Amino acid sequence: MDRVIIIRYGEIFLKGKNKSYFESLLINNIKQSLKSFKFEFSRSQGRYTVSGYSADCEGDIVDRLKRVFGIHSLSVADRVETAYSEGFVHVKDSLKSLTQRLCAENTIKNATFRMTVKRADKHIPMKSFEIAALLADTVLNNSDFKVDLTSYDYEISVDMRENGYSYIYSEVIYGAGGLPVGCSSKGMLLLSGGIDSPVAGYMMAKRGMKQVAVHFASPPYTSERATAKVVELRDIIEAYTTDMTLYVVPFTEIQLAIHEKCPAEYMITIMRRFMMRIATLLAKKEGCTAIITGESLGQVASQTVESMTSTESCAGHPIFRPLIAFDKEETMTLAKKIGTYETSIQPFEDCCTIFLPKNPSIHPNLAKVVEAENKLDIDALVARAVESTEKRG
Ligand code: ATP
Ligand code: MG
Repeated sequence: MDRVIIIRYGEIFLKGKNKSYFESLLINNIKQSLKSFKFEFSRSQGRYTVSGYSADCEGDIVDRLKRVFGIHSLSVADRVETAYSEGFVHVKDSLKSLTQRLCAENTIKNATFRMTVKRADKHIPMKSFEIAALLADTVLNNSDFKVDLTSYDYEISVDMRENGYSYIYSEVIYGAGGLPVGCSSKGMLLLSGGIDSPVAGYMMAKRGMKQVAVHFASPPYTSERATAKVVELRDIIEAYTTDMTLYVVPFTEIQLAIHEKCPAEYMITIMRRFMMRIATLLAKKEGCTAIITGESLGQVASQTVESMTSTESCAGHPIFRPLIAFDKEETMTLAKKIGTYETSIQPFEDCCTIFLPKNPSIHPNLAKVVEAENKLDIDALVARAVESTEKRG
């Protein structure tokens, strides 16, 4: 008997002529997410199977697979020879131990189950429901469970495949859903150390967007530890997005120049316009076709319609803001679910919080912003920042 993991992918994106393209992306992403494990991979009958791994890695492998977009659900199953002519002896053995496991964990009084048999192996001369009735005996004989076909606590599935093997499982674990990363081009994620931007990256990855991240740091006002926190956040979302390069841009010179030469009320707006210019240049270099931010409408002064509009004109690509209509509470819930929250709340300084004016303009006038920033040598400042940008592996 073998243990295997059955992977079911979403059906919607596999329709039509792009099917093989989506499938090959998904298979690549699955293999990459499991690259630190020894395993075998196979596909048949619209499913993938991961097998040949060492038993103590099973939980970790399932955890990794739960982060791969495009996977609809997973089941950890026993794989045994169907052996019809021997009265399904191996299937029955597996069902017996599965039933014992369920009994040991069961806390439900008068628990019920249904046996679902799928018979793709047409060599077996019995109908699925007849096999189900036969196999249900093994469960009944090894537990107090009762059969209930419509309202059941456990669904015990036996897939009898054409390859002569049966797959036996009782649990369907939901995957991350979405589309395989890579099918929706590549975006440049503006990654601060905050709660919002990692969630924004996660959401765009869910729609299949591969990403590169950029972080603006202002040493010595922001510490190396603050940047290390961003690296950590990148590592967490990388599990959902496949490999994700992080650029760290030195932003101090630009911030000091704005602080010195521009009215304080426009500080944030002008700073963001610089971020967009730099992100656009790096995006071009990396072949990204969109910029992603964690902005949410009205959350802070720089996230009013006027503030966001005033940064648009500096971006050479569309800006995607997947959290635009999210309440902070909703973003926090998602951050907890994807595992970025605890890192995000570590109290390190961000470049946006230094030189913060007391009264930032909430509805900046674009003409005035442009007039104010023209006191700066924009091109030279941007070029120097890009030149000194570092990649974090
Ligand atoms: P977050 O929680 O993502 O930091 P926020 O609610 O603090 O967002 P802002 O500080 O206004 O909001 O930042 C808005 C967006 O601008 C962020 O979501 C992020 O995409 C980008 N951003 C802000 N600061 C930085 C930075 N230092 N480096 C890269 N991107 C940044
Ligand atoms: Mg922030």
